Order: sequence, then structure tokens, then C-alpha cells
Amino acid sequence: MTSIFERIIAREIPADVVYEDDLVIAFRDIAPRAPVHLLVVPKTGEYANVVELAAGDPALLAHLVATADALAVEHTGGDFRLVFNTGESAGQTVFHVHAHVMGDRVGSPTAALSEGTLADV
Ligand code: AMP
Repeated sequence: MTSIFERIIAREIPADVVYEDDLVIAFRDIAPRAPVHLLVVPKTGEYANVVELAAGDPALLAHLVATADALAVEHTGGDFRLVFNTGESAGQTVFHVHAHVMGDRVGSPTAALSEGTLADV
């Protein structure tokens, strides 16, 4: 079944894309749960979750993490939370592996991601 992320990658539905290369695409989460909330998504739909990705293509997982880091430098000033929901009961709703990159905006005076927040991500 075609996931919503495959439709975004194919440009069949719009998204606020912040980065793209041959392997991954990154766009703003439609329902942000942090001041900066991006999704980094491998273009291949082969892997449903991060465990499958790590086993099947560790280099692609490393590229995804490096992309998350570069985007955090740009959007949050460097610090970020990286979340891979894995399985329905853990909150995964799209079964095309993706990383949530969450952080505070560059220059924000508040600590929006203090420990104990974002329990519903
Ligand atoms: P997860 O629940 O970990 O599978 O994450 C899926 C995420 O995709 C959720 O945070 C949704 O808000 C987000 N999402 C769903 N549809 C879209 C969309 N069309 N554009 C951007 N983000 C989306």
C-alpha cells in the first residue's frame, strides 16, 4: 500500500519540504509537537521502521541521522531530539521509516524541550 510519505516524495500531495537529496527528504510535520518539528524520510519505502532500516541499510540510517543533525544546526541551533516511533502501540502511524527531529527555534530564550515534555510524540 502506498504510504502518505510516498505520495509526498512523488509530489502527489504537498508538503513544506526543507531538504531533499537522492536518498532522503525532510519536511515539516503537519501537526508539530515542538517549535521545530521536522520529519526526515528515506525515499525508499522498503523499510517500515528504524529496526528494519538499521538491519537492511545501515549506511542509509547513518545518512538519515547526519541529515537530521545538519537540519538541527540550521533550524534549532544544534540541539535536537531524534525520535523513531516503532510499532503501533508506541505511536507509529506511518509505516515508512521516518525520524522526528524536534527542537527549539534558533535563539529562543526558553527551553521548550526540557525532560518530561513531548510525551505524546
Ligand atoms: P508517526 O506517528 O511516528 O508514524 O509519525 C507520523 C507523523 O507524520 C505524525 O507526526 C504526523 O503528524 C505526520 N504527518 C502525517 N501526514 C502528514 C503530512 N501530510 N505532512 C506532514 N506530516 C504528516
